[in-house]
Amino acid sequence: MYTLGIDIGSTTSKCVILRDGIEIIAKSLQIGGLGSEGPEEALNALWSSSGLKRQQMAATIVTGYGRTNYRDANGQASELTCHALGAGFVCPGVRTVIDIGGQDVKVIAINEQGQMTGFVMNDKCAAGTGRFMDVMAQILRLSVEELGVNAELSRNPAAISSTCTVFAESEVISQLAAGVPKQDVAAGICESVASRVSALARRGGVTEPVCISGGVAQNSAVCRDLERSLGVRLICDPLAQYFGAIGAAIRAYKQMGE
Ligand code: ADP
Repeated sequence: MYTLGIDIGSTTSKCVILRDGIEIIAKSLQIGGLGSEGPEEALNALWSSSGLKRQQMAATIVTGYGRTNYRDANGQASELTCHALGAGFVCPGVRTVIDIGGQDVKVIAINEQGQMTGFVMNDKCAAGTGRFMDVMAQILRLSVEELGVNAELSRNPAAISSTCTVFAESEVISQLAAGVPKQDVAAGICESVASRVSALARRGGVTEPVCISGGVAQNSAVCRDLERSLGVRLICDPLAQYFGAIGAAIRAYKQMGE
């Protein structure tokens, strides 16, 4: 039996097909979330890579910021539930999930039975999110992928003291104008995100094992700085950006058994 999970985020759309609730057999990701062609493009990519058709899906669950606008599913599930389920699937026994997405940051507590027991979320501010990284990467004329790679080369990270994206933007511009090397500015940006996220995580409480989810998990400098700041080992799985979609596909599978 195949089930489909769709995660329509603020920035990207992700889809996953699960077989019998235990095996990921296809996945796709497209830039463009809520209000864009992203979800349709991600689904089209999924059908062509898997050779499967929509009619073969026993159930579909949609999650993410854009879930309420999506009509073509059997149901919706919250991002928190899906991230907790997806993280538990990929990292069995995980107790804390730190999700850094395009628009928000969530720290989710999970008990020994794999159930979500609480969460904390950032306020309505881009600092510490993927959006902050996207804006800063643009100023440095780097892609978000290159931002982390550049940061890893730095031996002397610049101090980015502003937590506000708009102020941090002018701070970064002045540092570049003053001749601070790009890699040191990139490292400062990653440190600033990590320090913002670790403050939130400490507020929510951190129990090991801890895993990171969302697109920013691919930035190894942020992951390293977060590990240092929290004093824990972080599980950074290559599937981190798909946890929401995996959780939605698991939810769809569970729904079939109910
Ligand atoms: P959402 O679910 O809110 O759409 P995602 O979890 O997909 O967000 O994360 C999107 C963010 O991830 C982007 O804003 C970007 O900053 C970051 N990101 C995406 N790909 C990479 C990458 N390869 N390296 C570093 N950061 C990345």
